[in-house]
Amino acid sequence: MEIKTICGEFCNVYVIESNVNVIIDAGANTSMLPNINVDYVFLTHAHYDHLAYLNDYAEKFPNATFLMAEQAYNKLDDCQQNVATLFGVNKLKKLPINRVKFVKEGDQIEALNEQNHFVELKGHTNCSMGLIVIDNIFCGDAVFENGYGSYDLPTGDFEQTQKTLEKINKLNNIRHFYSGHGTHFDKN
Ligand SMILES: [Zn+2]
Repeated sequence: MEIKTICGEFCNVYVIESNVNVIIDAGANTSMLPNINVDYVFLTHAHYDHLAYLNDYAEKFPNATFLMAEQAYNKLDDCQQNVATLFGVNKLKKLPINRVKFVKEGDQIEALNEQNHFVELKGHTNCSMGLIVIDNIFCGDAVFENGYGSYDLPTGDFEQTQKTLEKINKLNNIRHFYSGHGTHFDKN
C-alpha cells in the first residue's frame, strides 16, 4: 500500500494505492490526480472545501463508488449546510444515488487488502467520518496537528467535538494522522 498526498486548492486529498485504489476527499482539481483506476472515493464530511470537485471525480472515475455518511449525502446540494455559500457558490448538484454507498461506524472497504474500518468523528459536523487503514487515520477536519476543527458551522457541536477527541485519544493503534488541512503528523 502507498499513500500519496495531494495539496488541493481547497483541502488535502489522499490517494491510497493498493489492490484497490481509494481517494479521500474532493478538494483538488482532477488534473492534479494520478491517472489510475479509482475504485472508491471517500468523503470525510460534506463541507464545500472537501466536496468541490465531487461531480468531476464521478465523471473522471466512472467505476468509482462514493462512500460517505448518509447525513453527508443529504447536504451535497444544500449550499447553506455544506457552507458552499461561504465560497460564493449557491448551486450544487447532488451525486446520483446509484454512485453512492453510505458508511457508518465499523463498516469496511471489504475489497481492500489492508485492514480498515470507518469511524464516526462527529463534532466538526454531524456527518464527519474517518477511515482507519492499518495504523493510519484519514480524519478530515476532526483533528489537526495543532488542534481540532471548528464546531460553529452548521451541524457543528462542541460536546461532540470533545467526545470525538477523547475517542481519537483512545485509538491506541493509530500512529499516522492524515488531516483535511495542514501537514500529516504522527502520534508517539
Ligand atoms: Zn470542514
